[in-house]
Amino acid sequence: MTQTLDPVSSGATGDVAVSSGATGDVAVRAGAGTPQQRVDAWLAAFETALAARDVEAAAGLFATDSFWRDLVAFTWNIKTVEGRDGIADMLWSRLGDTDPSGFRTTEEPTEADGVVSAWISFETAAGRGEGHLRLTEEGAWTLLTTLQELAGHEEGKGMRRPRGAEHGADPGRVTWSERREIEERELGHTVQPYVVIVGGGQGGIALGARMRQLGVPTLVLDKHDRPGDQWRKRYKSLCLHDPVWYDHLPYLPFPDNWPVFAPKDKIGDWLEMYTKVMEVPYWSKTTCTSASYDETSGEWTVEVVRDGEPITLRPRQLVLATGMSGKANIPSFPGMERFRGDQHHSSAHPGPDAYAGRKAVVIGANNSAHDICGALWEHGADVTMVQRSSTHIVKSDSLMELGLGDLYSERAVAAGMTTHKADLTFASLPYRIMHEFQIPVYDAIRERDRDFYDRLEKVGFDLDFGDDGSGLFMKYLRRGSGYYIDVGAAELVANGDVALAHGNVRELTETSVILEDGTELEADVVVYATGYGSMNGWAADLMGQEVADKVGKCWGLGSDTTKDPGPWEGEQRNMWKPTRQEGLWFHGGNLHQSRHYSLYLALQLKARYEGIPTPVYGLQEVHHLS
Ligand SMILES: Cc1cc2nc3c(=O)[nH]c(=O)nc-3n(C[C@H](O)[C@H](O)[C@H](O)COP(=O)(O)OP(=O)(O)OC[C@H]3O[C@@H](n4cnc5c(N)ncnc54)[C@H](O)[C@@H]3O)c2cc1C
Repeated sequence: MTQTLDPVSSGATGDVAVSSGATGDVAVRAGAGTPQQRVDAWLAAFETALAARDVEAAAGLFATDSFWRDLVAFTWNIKTVEGRDGIADMLWSRLGDTDPSGFRTTEEPTEADGVVSAWISFETAAGRGEGHLRLTEEGAWTLLTTLQELAGHEEGKGMRRPRGAEHGADPGRVTWSERREIEERELGHTVQPYVVIVGGGQGGIALGARMRQLGVPTLVLDKHDRPGDQWRKRYKSLCLHDPVWYDHLPYLPFPDNWPVFAPKDKIGDWLEMYTKVMEVPYWSKTTCTSASYDETSGEWTVEVVRDGEPITLRPRQLVLATGMSGKANIPSFPGMERFRGDQHHSSAHPGPDAYAGRKAVVIGANNSAHDICGALWEHGADVTMVQRSSTHIVKSDSLMELGLGDLYSERAVAAGMTTHKADLTFASLPYRIMHEFQIPVYDAIRERDRDFYDRLEKVGFDLDFGDDGSGLFMKYLRRGSGYYIDVGAAELVANGDVALAHGNVRELTETSVILEDGTELEADVVVYATGYGSMNGWAADLMGQEVADKVGKCWGLGSDTTKDPGPWEGEQRNMWKPTRQEGLWFHGGNLHQSRHYSLYLALQLKARYEGIPTPVYGLQEVHHLS
């Protein structure tokens, strides 16, 4: 997905002198001195104001248009506050408990286009944090603060790695594998997990690995026979659309010989290997059938069936990692029951082999529709794609070069970019202004691939670049749909090899699909590539509609663009953060998000496990139910 480092405007408006009532006058001439001096002066003034609990002075160090994005460090939430008033409100509520200190740069700040950028670290009462600061002449433009570890509960890694061997002679020695066997025997039976994660795809596995590292008894459950089956069972031509540099899991990056776009079975095998190597407690062949929360005891009753055996689990925290692209939207068209050919949702598509020489109609024009049309065409099917609304298409090469290249590429690695730094760089861009960074990238892509887009439009393909021209990644964050990263199938549409039809389906007959304008498409197979529903649909299935409505829609930013209704939320709804249902969490997204946000979710869960107070600032309102 798309990230760029170039700001379009600094919002610079001139020098500002900030007076700190509690600590005497501190003049922060943000425009004077080297980038290092300017950042040092700002951080010193900020720390002085915070230490004096002088909220007005601290907020005054920010520019009028400014953003403070906090990942758990101050807010025990994932929250962006905007402008001096928003910042002051958060600090009034959270400054005392957070007790931040020790703000310092971790490398030399840089300056570009009037914006000074700095990597910072700091401490809070609860732990250690890292962050990023962008300064203009008016003060702080963006500030990112993230909690990286809880003091006293650091992970056993690096200098703290476990010894493994217990040297010496011990007649009562219990070996590593014996200890693992005991753990496996007890967890979920005589020992209750503190956290149950329903869904053992990449999301559940990554979070499970982090929970294990943090020493929180956690169980990951999945319906499938083996970890990785989520990918193995998808259609056979599927490869990741995101490149390897974007896809690493926590702790264990892919090796240097890993393909740029991993085929789905290879990803499946990696997930299985990862689960084993990271010792993620994982129950395969286990379906969660229901869950209910007892407000008084603060405990969930989670009913599962493990390989035919019903088991009741009683965790205090329940995470749904059941897949953002997991709950299939299956349309209901008149006549579906009389259609004599094969018909299935894209998630159940078996692949093209059975359809050589057959007529295939694929309903939808996004990622899955394109992939499936391409594979069917390659196997000699006669394929028609039915497009109902516009789609954003971006060529994979262009995306890699112009979108991702600065952060996630071999070029970025060669320039010293680490996955951690790339993730934090991306996290440092507040969602409110992210589209401004994206629009120029997609303008450049449109120019570079003009001929391709012209040809697509010439065959009648309804193309868009997002409501505001901000392209793929904003569409992904806002609605999680409406795009295709072109790895070849769009060419087939552009050159007419895959036929294109438009409009809604009116009905199916025994042998065809009829569109609203009367167009009849003969079909031996109909694939409904009609997308996926909001993750709170999983909550409805397992806990009832009342709980689903209590937490509301998952995903989306409230951007008031197509399929992402306002009001503005500032962060993705319900993801990786406290919800309106105590003890219920949602985790998911692409591999990048699974990797990065699993840390913040894990730290929130660990803090609760250890009884560390976690007062949440700005628990989100529910504006939409699905
Ligand atoms: C064409 C295509 C290309 C894609 N390309 C990429 C890409 O390049 N990069 C990327 O990151 N993503 C890509 N995706 C999206 C990918 O599907 C998701 O990112 C990924 O599957 C999300 O992982 P997850 O762990 O959140 O959910 P899933 O992989 O969907 O796993 C959820 C798991 O929950 C389990 N589950 C659900 N309900 C229950 C229950 N009641 N009890 C027990 N288990 C349950 C399911 O069995 C499933 O295994 C692509 C998708 C498609 C269709």
